[in-house]
Amino acid sequence: MADWIEGRITGKRHWSQALYSLQIDAPLPSFRAGQYIKVALDLDGERVGRPYSLVNAPHESPLEIYFNEIPEGPLTPKLSDLEVGDRVWVSAKASGVFTMDNVVSRRHLWMLATGTALGVYLSMLKTMEPWERFERIILVHGARNTGELAYGETIAELQAAHEESFTFITALTRDSSETALQGRITNLLENGVLEDTAGAKITADDSHLMLCGNSEMIKDVRAWLEAHGLHRHRRLEPGHYTTEQYH
Ligand SMILES: Cc1cc2nc3c(=O)[nH]c(=O)nc-3n(C[C@H](O)[C@H](O)[C@H](O)COP(=O)(O)OP(=O)(O)OC[C@H]3O[C@@H](n4cnc5c(N)ncnc54)[C@H](O)[C@@H]3O)c2cc1C
Repeated sequence: MADWIEGRITGKRHWSQALYSLQIDAPLPSFRAGQYIKVALDLDGERVGRPYSLVNAPHESPLEIYFNEIPEGPLTPKLSDLEVGDRVWVSAKASGVFTMDNVVSRRHLWMLATGTALGVYLSMLKTMEPWERFERIILVHGARNTGELAYGETIAELQAAHEESFTFITALTRDSSETALQGRITNLLENGVLEDTAGAKITADDSHLMLCGNSEMIKDVRAWLEAHGLHRHRRLEPGHYTTEQYH
């Protein structure tokens, strides 16, 4: 059974539609950027917890999670009702191996996210390690529409701090915008548009990729990578990509 510590909501942001961030003050021990915590509420006498990637970097407090409300889900409609001052349960430690510890240093680091998976990369990119280990970092955010493109201020700060080495690309599936690509990440990979836009090729020699978000994107991108000679990274068998599946 998980051990829980008590947290208190210190900030809430409703971005748009069903997207929320919550800031939580809780005495979590140190963690690695890219790890997740479980957040829980006691609902009808049962503690209901789900994993959420931390958006804050390890040196930042409070803790922050970014999620979308799933109307039929047991937890997220209740999480989105929380207000500053309310209490939540947080797992007593962070977990997960989707961190820079399992990334092989090469020239280019590609970070591919669908939906709320953007948050996990912000935690990593607010630390120095990825910038010290890679010549270029290409963050790709796939979303349905412009309303789902959150954390614009944080991304603008990263762009200002790492002008030479950072490329941020958005891809929309159900909307269009002058600044975003149109289509699913997988299609943009298959038709070469993603690499052209980034001005970089995905190759076994040059690239490590991190894939985070929905299972369909991960499955399809993995198939493309394997067909191009890039293999899953394992601790004892260094490879080219690492994954974290949210749903
Ligand atoms: C390691 C890990 C880290 C995670 N980190 C995050 C995070 O940072 N932010 C976040 O929003 N979610 C994250 N999730 C998913 C999260 O744990 C919950 O499943 C989600 O918030 C829905 O909770 P729920 O109890 O309302 O519904 P659930 O009963 O958990 O799910 C209901 C339905 O919604 C689908 N679903 C789950 N998550 C999503 C999603 N993000 N977008 C669309 N559909 C979804 C499920 O497949 C299921 O069909 C993570 C999952 C894992 C395994």
